[in-house]
Amino acid sequence: MERAIAAAEAHSAHNYHPLPVVVASAEGAWMTDVEGRRYLDMLAGYSALNFGHRNRRLLDAAKAQLDRVTLTSRAFHHDRFAEFCTELADLCGMEMVLPMNTGAEAIETAVKTARKWGYRVKGVPDGKAKIVVAENNFHGRTTTIVSFSTDPEARADYGPYTPGFEIVPYGDLAALDAAVDEHTVAVLLEPIQGEAGVLVPPPGYLAGVRELTRARGTLFIADEIQSGLGRTGATFACEHEGVVPDVYVLGKALGGGVVPVSAVVSSAEVLGVYRPGEHGSTFGGNPLACAVALEVIAMLRTGEFQQRATELGDHLHSELGLLAGGGPVREVRGRGLWAGIDIDPAHGTGREISEKLMDRGVLVKDTHGSTIRIAPPLVISKEDLDWGLAQLRGVLSAGD
Ligand SMILES: *Cc1c(COP(=O)(O)O)cnc(C)c1O
Repeated sequence: MERAIAAAEAHSAHNYHPLPVVVASAEGAWMTDVEGRRYLDMLAGYSALNFGHRNRRLLDAAKAQLDRVTLTSRAFHHDRFAEFCTELADLCGMEMVLPMNTGAEAIETAVKTARKWGYRVKGVPDGKAKIVVAENNFHGRTTTIVSFSTDPEARADYGPYTPGFEIVPYGDLAALDAAVDEHTVAVLLEPIQGEAGVLVPPPGYLAGVRELTRARGTLFIADEIQSGLGRTGATFACEHEGVVPDVYVLGKALGGGVVPVSAVVSSAEVLGVYRPGEHGSTFGGNPLACAVALEVIAMLRTGEFQQRATELGDHLHSELGLLAGGGPVREVRGRGLWAGIDIDPAHGTGREISEKLMDRGVLVKDTHGSTIRIAPPLVISKEDLDWGLAQLRGVLSAGD
């Protein structure tokens, strides 16, 4: 194991600092390392693994497609494409889909779409389009996306930066109202800020954003890459406030933890702005991706995973609520099977807590110093969740 870690450090760029575990196999909510030790996965690939590792239905869909056709490029039609777009648009209550691969590509696509819509439909003068985003956002790692990041680690040394973005505090409707002007083509937000530490906006915020953007004739783009597809107990986190944005950006769980699949989903007015040659992706909407995503959509249609996230999420938050206040836990936030836990720095950094949890067989990820994030696969059993929480209590109690 040490050899594998040393080799990774010698031959890969150090843009990550993984926990010292080397995974060899996984199933459901559990991963096994190269020495046969088992770990409960309480991160689920940042929600890319909502349906668990190697979900049977998803593997079967992938294997069946592997035996037919895996890639055509968009130069030709293939027989899973129309079905995928139709089903995904329907799941979202929208009309059109533009498939990409990674989340960042889908966000880039949403930015391009909003700008093009602004020039072609809204009538914004050329080069003037503005997109309003929130402080502490995380939308991906491309140069344009990090241009509007407020995280110095994510942004420093990557300039010159792409102009055309204005940053406002998250959860502040008055600031948003002041920032939106006649050249604003979109407001781009995460309905719950994941990387920032699972920050849930104040009640009424998303509904307020919806009202404001509609009144001012600008698009509301919801980045549901991490919050969407069951994680919060609903198909989309926007649903908790009865909000339907103009554009959904999806990724992570859309690929079922099997292949990268992302998409921008919107109306015909918005996605109808594209003409052939104006945007594209070699792998976007490939047959294998469509087959897996179609199975993801079918699974979400049962409502089973949303219901599990609601029920287990209620349990998770009532258990975490007992830890908050007084002890090492300063604050707990989240919704559904998704929580950010702020630990008193005097008790250890998020990294130290994560390492202690790893020693007890639970894998989580820290963020921003003293926050740890919990987002187990939605297929986790209540018993396993309780066991994971018991390990967390053990780590947080003195003497560990
Ligand atoms: C992960 C994430 C992205 C970026 O997705 P990648 O597939 O890593 O490019 C964008 N937005 C949110 C909210 C995310 O959680």
